[in-house]
Amino acid sequence: MNQFGTVAYHTLGCKLNFSETSTIARSLEKEGFAKIHFDDGADVYVINTCSVTEQADKKCRNIVRKALSYNPSAKVFVIGCYAQLKPKEISTIEGVDFVLGANEKFNISKYLTDLNKNTNTIIKNDHIKETNTFIPGYSIGDRTRSFLKIQDGCNYFCSFCTIPLARGKSRSGTVEQTILKAKELATKNVKEVVLTGVNIGDFGNGTKETFLSLIQELDHIKEIDRFRISSIEPDLLNTQIINFVKESKKFVPHFHIPLQSGSDILLKKMRRRYNTELYRNRISLIKTLMPQACIGADVIVGFPGETDEEFKKTMDFLIDLPLSYLHVFTYSERANTTATRMNDVVPISIRKQRSKQLRNLSEKKKRAFYISQQGANEKVVFEKQEENGVMFGFTSNYIKVKTGYNPYMINQTGHVKLTEVGADGIMKMIFTEQEKEQKLLNELKLDN
Ligand code: SF4
Repeated sequence: MNQFGTVAYHTLGCKLNFSETSTIARSLEKEGFAKIHFDDGADVYVINTCSVTEQADKKCRNIVRKALSYNPSAKVFVIGCYAQLKPKEISTIEGVDFVLGANEKFNISKYLTDLNKNTNTIIKNDHIKETNTFIPGYSIGDRTRSFLKIQDGCNYFCSFCTIPLARGKSRSGTVEQTILKAKELATKNVKEVVLTGVNIGDFGNGTKETFLSLIQELDHIKEIDRFRISSIEPDLLNTQIINFVKESKKFVPHFHIPLQSGSDILLKKMRRRYNTELYRNRISLIKTLMPQACIGADVIVGFPGETDEEFKKTMDFLIDLPLSYLHVFTYSERANTTATRMNDVVPISIRKQRSKQLRNLSEKKKRAFYISQQGANEKVVFEKQEENGVMFGFTSNYIKVKTGYNPYMINQTGHVKLTEVGADGIMKMIFTEQEKEQKLLNELKLDN
């Protein structure tokens, strides 16, 4: 039973934001504030914002309006990256009680001494240079997969990016502290843990500990079946990490490595810390050691100076590389970044056209990767989502599979053979003989 009131949450943006909302919700729950569904008219609303989201301001306004339509006297907190970057804009939204920046967002309970609405919006927003504390955490959604926050902030200052301004310097906990959090997760029947942060390869920055030393320790946690490395910068994904993943029974062969451009001229303008040669070498090492690995990449199109010729370099580079999918971002100007002061701006219509071209290429790459895995034996963790009698899951190398819905398989790992890519782009599968027997035994056990 809640003692002090109810809270509902809305999260925009990335996995890191989701893991932080989850952490905030757990800590408020401990203080007596029960979490309820957004449309159930909560006493308090917490909106965790993102600055990368297109039309962040409009989205934020809509969610505040929606929250107040469920309970006009609810206390409304707007937190997160957009709150750090544009607190004044947010304070003009009617009905917002508190705007909390990067430091203060973890201290909501401090501002919940009563549930009355404020007469004015209160902004608590330290200068980002003073944001030095690292608050670890994790999300628990459907229990199958959890996002473990291992790092925050970034020291890179790529010329297009506002994240260092919104989240501050790169920082993390120690290996020991992170292992403690992971062990906490291990008691919650989570099958897969995704390591999350802004620049996770920078774990331990300024200390003797490194991302490699962290994953070597995580690998010993018996109760967790799988660890997935989310996005990691190519200059930080070194040979030792790649070799370690190859040997590990828990770290899955799935990498997401931001590329951003296949033109060395543009990589320099973007202030990225590698060139196309380094990137190509990383991909080829992974594929040599783990031919079945899934590799995704982020690409930005329409960055200032991206002429037809430079874009063609990106296109040709990508066609050539054995990538499995792309996340394509259309460049858009962000206040206070160096890129906004650059010449040779690419017209919006061309940005959109290029984005479409790369999205088509991504579809082709994904299909080709799936087809290359037909016939393979894999382990799948099944999720709870059900659609017209079908359930879904992911292989270790991130192939989405489907099979007939069976509630006994939710959050279970199954041994399967991948058969054929369906017209919907999802892999069909059959259980292996050994798995069928095991499944029957499990069903009998659960029924008794
Ligand atoms: S590495 Fe670059 S793009 Fe990534 S968060 Fe840091 S500054 Fe932004």
